[in-house]
Amino acid sequence: MSFQDRGEGAPGGAPTAGGIDWRDVAGKIWNAPNTAVGLLYGGVGMAAGEAAHLMGLQEKAPRVFLGNNGVQFVNNPLGGRSAITLGNATVSYRDPYDPSDGYWHYPDGSPILENGHTNPQHEIQHTYQGQQLGPLYLPSNLLGGLNAVLRGKEWHDDANWNETGPQMNPPRPWPGTP
Ligand SMILES: [Zn+2]
Repeated sequence: MSFQDRGEGAPGGAPTAGGIDWRDVAGKIWNAPNTAVGLLYGGVGMAAGEAAHLMGLQEKAPRVFLGNNGVQFVNNPLGGRSAITLGNATVSYRDPYDPSDGYWHYPDGSPILENGHTNPQHEIQHTYQGQQLGPLYLPSNLLGGLNAVLRGKEWHDDANWNETGPQMNPPRPWPGTP
């Protein structure tokens, strides 16, 4: 498996030796408990999506691949109405990587942007957050989401501090980071 692909907007200045970005490797190890939860969650969703597809309730079959700094589960019913990133794993509703997917794309195949960027460009920021926060990622999301809800906002509103940076243009893990 190759986790070398960092996608765009990766936090810069990472030390490399022998072509390997050791800070990135350490981050993925630190993030591994979250990734384990994400793989389990995505796998369960994949099984459910496969069943729904066979019964004719879901048009496209689920698929899984490596990319955008993680394991991508798409056409996955556990993606909610957008996508959920747990560790280096992202579980997406429909398929934001398929230009023919009319939920995420215009008829001409160009992606529908939110705050000037695509959903994968947003979700990759959550993978970087996980690589920094490690076991604190889930508590941070729980507290951040509750903070937004208690202020009368939506869970994914930028009042949730885990969403503030990823919703900026260009997206970033945290508001203060480049
Ligand atoms: Zn988000």
